[in-house]
Amino acid sequence: MRTSGKMKKMQKQILSKNQQIIFDLIEKSSEPLKAYAILFNVQKKGIKAPLQVYRALDKLVEIGKIHKIESRNAFIACHNSSCQVAKATAFSICEICEKVTEISSAGLSKYLANFKDKDGMKYSKYNLEFFGLCKKCR
Ligand SMILES: [Zn+2]
Ligand SMILES: [Zn+2]
Repeated sequence: MRTSGKMKKMQKQILSKNQQIIFDLIEKSSEPLKAYAILFNVQKKGIKAPLQVYRALDKLVEIGKIHKIESRNAFIACHNSSCQVAKATAFSICEICEKVTEISSAGLSKYLANFKDKDGMKYSKYNLEFFGLCKKCR
């Protein structure tokens, strides 16, 4: 029996040039970025077509490098390794200063992963947003 001897390990996700530019932009931002702000910024770097930007954003969301904050229609870089690649994301959002933080709670991720409702509906994806006041605004 021949074995190749090379087990495929977790591949490091290689980003395309556009994806990398957009990811860097989102990661460096101190607040979630809206698509038009991303578009405006990357146009200076040579990505002119909105479609290219939206495609790259979709892909980055899909692989869990960034998340979409639905209520703000904005994007934020992932800072929680236990969010299980975009299947269960949770954010806290301050209603005054609009500060958005990814909630990093292994307990919550685990709870959501096993959560079923009584009608037997099994959920495959969660995107939770908790609203309140941050320390500074209280
Ligand atoms: Zn995340
Ligand atoms: Zn605040």
